[in-house]
Formats: sequence, structure tokens, C-alpha cells
Amino acid sequence: MATFLRPELEAIKAYSTPPEASSGTLPAQVDYLDTNEFPLDLPAHLKAALARQYVEAMASNRYPDSSHWHLKQAIATYASEHSSVPIVPNQIAVGNGSDELIRALLLATALGSHGSIVVAEPTFSIYGILAQSLGIPVHRAQRHPDTFAVEIETAEALIATATPPVRVLFMLQPNSPTGNALTSTEVAWLRQVPTDILVVIDEAYFEFSGKTLLPELADHPNWLILRTFSKALRLAAHRVGYAIAEPTVIAALEKLRLPYNLPSMSQLAACFALEHRHELLADIPAVIAERERLYRQLQTCPHLRVWPSVANFLFFRLNDPSHTQPLCQALEQQGTLVRAIANGIRVSIGTKEENERFWQRLQHYLSAHSKV
Ligand SMILES: *Cc1c(COP(=O)(O)O)cnc(C)c1O
Repeated sequence: MATFLRPELEAIKAYSTPPEASSGTLPAQVDYLDTNEFPLDLPAHLKAALARQYVEAMASNRYPDSSHWHLKQAIATYASEHSSVPIVPNQIAVGNGSDELIRALLLATALGSHGSIVVAEPTFSIYGILAQSLGIPVHRAQRHPDTFAVEIETAEALIATATPPVRVLFMLQPNSPTGNALTSTEVAWLRQVPTDILVVIDEAYFEFSGKTLLPELADHPNWLILRTFSKALRLAAHRVGYAIAEPTVIAALEKLRLPYNLPSMSQLAACFALEHRHELLADIPAVIAERERLYRQLQTCPHLRVWPSVANFLFFRLNDPSHTQPLCQALEQQGTLVRAIANGIRVSIGTKEENERFWQRLQHYLSAHSKV
């Protein structure tokens, strides 16, 4: 590596998604069941209406609104629908994907030996990757092998002994890749985490799970709720995420994000999606019904174990884990992308046709390798 680069970067792998990462060539038609996006694009009439806004309401030569004012108001209204205490715009920070906000909050809490973070694995990898890229130590608590609930005692032991001290605890509701919601024991634990630790509750899949800790946010000034437009609201292409927290925490994030971090088109699209949220969210029950259908199918399969999920994906493990990578490759060659992770496979819920092709291809692999 060039001598002007930080040597620790050598150990970090660039984040890239399977199509570029895979060596083989993909078939013409691909089912993307690897990144938990919503399976449907915006309806054509809405996409056309959004395009009209681009033509009529957006000046390409002008910088975006760096205050995100309209978007913050729209998010505040949306978030308040699920909170007993109304959410106001100065409790909201908007990022170029929630990834940008994760980085901003790491900069705000733990940079330069000020602190370390705790994650409970298996979990969303970005927290650890971003922390590592900033030289922030990552402590890894474990989850119960049957339920994927956090092993609270080991997490507490890490918190008690860590140097530099733990400044952020990353939790998810529901967890990815395993799909489980927080238990009442876990929530009770989060309520009493010392206030010198920021508790991040990533609710990227909120619209699927219907579960949120937002109503309790007012009681916990050290909590931060993270959400995104990339999943249920169908705007992964536009990169919009948001955080909801105490105004003082939000003010710190605002100092650390990039000046014009969110393109005008993305701000328009996010406001537009919220305006039309009832139409967009009306398709969620169909995704959940598909999840339950695929879950029951996978349960009938003697060669694997599948876990229940409250998100738009399922996690399963083969009884013989040496077949996990070969299965993923076989699926990919036939045009179904899934995610090999945590000694198992995470599959996003797609359209009925995509899910059916996945199921057929899975069964085909299993019967061709009858000893799996
Ligand atoms: C998809 C996802 C996000 C969203 O990331 P964006 O950068 O907003 O696209 C955040 N957290 C988890 C756990 C996710 O799965």
C-alpha cells in the first residue's frame, strides 16, 4: 500500500454488493433478493408525477436545500403518527442513506479515542465497518443461538470493562439478518443503559414490523431512532435516511454531515413518497403474506432451519453449512441473488413469482445434493 495511506485500511474490505463482487456472469433476468429492497418500483403514475416535479419545481443549477426543511416537516408529521408525543423537525436529521447518519454519529461520539461501540452479532455489518474505518474499537456481544436475543450479561460485561469507554450501543428492531423483534427483556435492558451511552435503535424495517420504540423516545434522552426510505418507501435509489433524537444530539449530527448531503431530487422524492404513503404502504400486507408463505414452505424442508421474521426477509441455515456458499452460487447462476451471512442465508421477500423461483431453485439444489 502507498506509504501516505493509513496502514489499518489494508484490513478493511470495500463495501460492494454481489453483482460486482461475483465472478461469474449473471443470467439476463435477475431476482434481487439480496438487499431487502421493496420488490416493486413506484407505481407508474406516481413515478410520472415525480418526474414532472423534477421538470417543474427543481432548478438543476441550484444547490439543494441544506436545511432539509420541507422534508424534516414531512418526516415529523409521519413519525408523529406512531408517537404519543408529537415529533418536531429539530428532532430530525436527514442523511444520504442512514449510513451517512451512522458515520455522523460515530464521529460525534467515539472519534479519536473518545469511545468504542458495542454491536450484538450476527447483525447489520455497516456499524462495525464504519467504526473500523474511523479507527473506533468495536466490541462484539453475542446473541442467543436459538432466538437471536442479545446475551445481555456478556454485553454488560463488555460495557463495564471497555477502554476507551463504550459510547454507542447499536440495536435493531427487528435485527438483520435474523428478522427477530426486540424482546421485552431486551427493551427493559435498553431502558436502563447508562445515559453516557447513546443507544441507537435501527428501525429500518419499521413499516414491515409495525414495531417501534419511538413512543418511549421522550423518556430516554440517550436514545436515537434510525429509519430509512430505502426499504418500505421504495426509494433505495435516492439514498434517504433519517434519525430521530433529542435536539441536542441532532444538532451534533448536523455539524458533522456534509453541507449539501442530500440531492434536491432525493429530497423531492422523499417528500413525495410521504405524501403518497398510504398508497405505497398499502402493498405491505402482500409482502408480509408472501413472507409467511415462504416461511411455511421453508419449514417443510428437512435440510435447513428457518427462523420466524417480522421484517421483509427470512434467515435460514442449512444443516450442513458447507453447502451454504455452493447453494448461493447455484442460485446466482440461475438468477436468484441471496445473501450468505452469519453461517446462513438471508433472502429478501420479492414478488410472488420471484419467491416461487427461489423456492423451486432451492429445492432443485437440495434434491441434486441429497445429502445436504
Ligand atoms: C437497509 C438498512 C438500512 C438502510 O440503509 P440506507 O443507508 O438508509 O439505505 C439501515 N439499517 C439496516 C439494518 C438496514 O438493513
